[in-house]
Amino acid sequence: MAGIICQNLNKKYGVTEVVPDFNLEVSDHEFVVFLGPSGCGKSTILRMIAGLEDISGGSLSIDSKVVTDLEPRDRGVAMVFQNYALYPHMTIRDNIAFGLRRLKVPEPEIDKRIDGVVAMLGLGPVINRKPTELSGGQQQRVAIARAMIKTPKVFLFDEPLSNLDAKLRAQMRFEIARLHKQLRTTTIYVTHDQMEAMTLADRIVLLNAGRIEQVGAPQQIYERPATLFVAGFIGTPAMNLLPMTVERSASGWKLEGAGAQIGISGNVFDLKQDQQVVLGVRPADLLATKPNADGNLLAGTTDMVEFHGDHTLVGFAAGNVRVNAFVPSRDRPAEGDEVAFTVMEAAIHLFDAAGGHSLFKEPGAGH
Ligand code: ADP
Repeated sequence: MAGIICQNLNKKYGVTEVVPDFNLEVSDHEFVVFLGPSGCGKSTILRMIAGLEDISGGSLSIDSKVVTDLEPRDRGVAMVFQNYALYPHMTIRDNIAFGLRRLKVPEPEIDKRIDGVVAMLGLGPVINRKPTELSGGQQQRVAIARAMIKTPKVFLFDEPLSNLDAKLRAQMRFEIARLHKQLRTTTIYVTHDQMEAMTLADRIVLLNAGRIEQVGAPQQIYERPATLFVAGFIGTPAMNLLPMTVERSASGWKLEGAGAQIGISGNVFDLKQDQQVVLGVRPADLLATKPNADGNLLAGTTDMVEFHGDHTLVGFAAGNVRVNAFVPSRDRPAEGDEVAFTVMEAAIHLFDAAGGHSLFKEPGAGH
């Protein structure tokens, strides 16, 4: 097994630079997820690591060996794709064995390895079928078996679950996590699905336009987004983002905007008089209260009431800024009702409006 070091990786297609300067160290046994919107460069970086795309600049090493110019088969990696690319005329057993036969691995050794992966992935009952006789989930398991049987140093997954329905995705997610616990093979996994990233990753690498916005454990990224981009990307529904102006007050600072005044008495943010900031607060962190209550309130007239089951999502305009908040469904307002929510200081994120960076003095620390 192996660590991966990406140093100043650069990718250009003609004159278009899609990855300017990518730097990352992945530890041995680590499960790293590349997450970001479509087109942000996730697959391109993964494919450079796999050797399926030329590296325009920089260097890549796997298991302490520089592999920048090596062929994919000489890098010790195995890749699982979104479309399983199984050979339709071959049985499942032959599909799984194919790569090893090409490497001239002796048949008894192949049989032994097949028995191992088939047991691990529960493919025994379908081993003599053809791919078309399998469900989508089973086909993806075969694709994973085919990668596993090569006992690679590194697994690379490129959106492997995108073709599955939601229920199967959740099930396969669980299986991939279980396999990683068992095998502990260093893994890079590309997805645009934040739930997959949150549940699978040791660390998430959040990408935007070919650049890293933040690297961190899922909880760290969710609780301390380092930039406005990350704040807006992670979390469903998205964090409320409200433009505000900073002023000094007797008790510390006061934020003005969105028809509200929010007091900040703690000392966790780096603020300046008249600074333009963006206040971030997650819909689940807003606390319903009476419209005429005192304190840090966001208030407005409900224009959206969306029943989600236990909770209901309520939408309103605070000043001229859209705000979403969750309330327990039993207390839900009707459309057109006046609503007010307390913004608790402990739930506040602040970002510099111009630079987009978090204003927490210590990005990793709590309040
Ligand atoms: P993601 O995997 O995050 O969806 P990609 O890595 O596929 O993003 O793409 C990153 C960027 O590179 C996109 O802007 C895409 O249009 C561009 N790109 C990808 N492949 C090529 C190519 N063969 N030629 C030119 N541009 C490409």
